[in-house]
Amino acid sequence: MTDQQKTAIITGASSGVGLYGAKALAAKGWHVIMACRNLEKAERVAKEVGIPAESRTIMHLDLADFDSVRKFVADFRATGRTLYSLVCNAAVYLPLAKEPQRNKDGYEICVATNHLGHFLLCNLMLEDLKNSPAEDKRLVILGTVTANPKEVGGKIPIPAPPDLGDLQGMAAGFKPPVAMIDGKVFKPGKAYKDSKLCNILTMRELHNRYHKETGIVFNSFYPGCVAETGLFRNHYGLFRTIFPWFQKNITKGYVTEEVAGDRLAKVVADPGFDVSGVYWSWGNRQQQGREAFMQEVSDEALDDNKADVLWDLSAKLVGLSA
Ligand code: NAP
Repeated sequence: MTDQQKTAIITGASSGVGLYGAKALAAKGWHVIMACRNLEKAERVAKEVGIPAESRTIMHLDLADFDSVRKFVADFRATGRTLYSLVCNAAVYLPLAKEPQRNKDGYEICVATNHLGHFLLCNLMLEDLKNSPAEDKRLVILGTVTANPKEVGGKIPIPAPPDLGDLQGMAAGFKPPVAMIDGKVFKPGKAYKDSKLCNILTMRELHNRYHKETGIVFNSFYPGCVAETGLFRNHYGLFRTIFPWFQKNITKGYVTEEVAGDRLAKVVADPGFDVSGVYWSWGNRQQQGREAFMQEVSDEALDDNKADVLWDLSAKLVGLSA
């Protein structure tokens, strides 16, 4: 650790976009707290991709376990570091699940991990960002194309697009037999897309509630189709072979983990990305010289009333409200 190093926390930095994002930020001179559920794996892959030891600290965080989220925040505070940026990157995707998997609270695991765990983390760490003397503070939440029908990739008629309905499932307590936010029948791919839509609603609500008062920049970005990350580990073997090939050769939408990691580091650290309430995208391509642009989000992601209701219901589910 050196005094000049700015500190960022990246959740799920033991694989894919988060790992290569940590590498790219370290190359920019940052110190990265790699917040991971598997410490041994994180240590191994950090060494494998060449993140220097003085540029990283690996800390335990299991987003599906809200006690672990609270402990992580306490552990981070004990380091005494000044926080410049929090990146909510970790995610699980279980497209073939026949039955909902659940965390220890009984909540469906994709929504519990991708949305509720990050929601709690963001709420707790707002304090750290507010108290941080850093001038340029950013909170970044990863989005995805399949949760945004206004992006080209999101227009493809994949069954079960994201739709939170009136949040009936959450309002009912989100416990068995409920497994979906809209309270309807369990669809594993939709659970992931719904959770990613929640990520964008959360980013926009953070912006609406706290940007003016705190100056913190809240934003999201789509890293591109990083077709070979661990995200697809629970898909059919054949899918894992064909999907990257299809994205490389047919759609040309394939993006390497290095390019995606570089994008993450830009959104965290580069001056042009200090705009709050924005969803960045490079489109679904990685050609040389391609510039980022502010991508319009879906009508549902723009629904301020829904963002507000989601906030209150999520707060209840993670034990934040009285
Ligand atoms: P990935 O390689 O599977 O990485 C996901 C990370 O999340 C891993 O480090 C994983 O830990 C971690 N994680 C999962 N459950 C966790 C939990 N309960 N607590 C803490 N960490 C947990 O996936 P990726 O493709 O890099 O995805 C990263 C982000 O990019 C996600 O938000 C995803 O939605 C977004 N994204 C990806 C793509 C794409 O094409 N890949 C496209 C758009 C958006 P382990 O290593 O222990 O499994």
